[in-house]
Amino acid sequence: MKLVFLGPPGAGKGTLAVRAVETLKAPHISTGNIFREAIAAMSPLGVKVKGIIDSGGLVDDDTTIALVRERLERGDAAAGYILDGFPRTIPQADALAGFSTLDRVVNFDIPDAGVLERLSGRRVCRKCGRNWHATFNPPPADGVCDKCGGEAYVRDDDRPQAVQKRLDVYRAQTEPLIGYYRAQGLLVDIDARPGVDEILSAFKAALGL
Ligand code: AMP
Repeated sequence: MKLVFLGPPGAGKGTLAVRAVETLKAPHISTGNIFREAIAAMSPLGVKVKGIIDSGGLVDDDTTIALVRERLERGDAAAGYILDGFPRTIPQADALAGFSTLDRVVNFDIPDAGVLERLSGRRVCRKCGRNWHATFNPPPADGVCDKCGGEAYVRDDDRPQAVQKRLDVYRAQTEPLIGYYRAQGLLVDIDARPGVDEILSAFKAALGL
């Protein structure tokens, strides 16, 4: 099944994707994770995008589209995938339509207050990308990931100024995709406010899994 996860930063797209891959047996492709890996590796792509990402802006469409097109050409994505964080603009969605079909677009619906609460407490493993929340699901006390030994840290773009910019960017550039995909009959709305188990059940029911 070829899926896009759409929704504001902090809606829980990545957390659900990690759980949903067990059911779907398809890769979780997060453009944000790919960019963060490039930054950690200090590759030419990482050097190019670091400042943009830290400030909460969007990487340019051409760079992002080329990256996703290349990733989808890999064999593991032939039968299905979860695209998390792409497309984020109408030109990206138009480009995606040119190189892949989609089965569904899952829209994670959450008010700004919920987003701010989640992002302000988010902790992420620097190595494997695993997420925690300082209050609701705290990382190990020593700050070391129990899965891979990486460091639990606060993303630079989860700091208050960048969060507000990411939300503004989402409303201006990404939210129009809701209408875009609804008009194509692809959109499935999911209430993203509850915990991940409840969201996973709603997700499976909505997709008939
Ligand atoms: P995420 O982990 O999805 O919140 O993405 C983190 C950051 O990576 C975003 O704030 C953007 O700077 C960049 N990014 C991720 N996906 C895209 C995309 N589809 N288009 C442009 N920039 C992106």
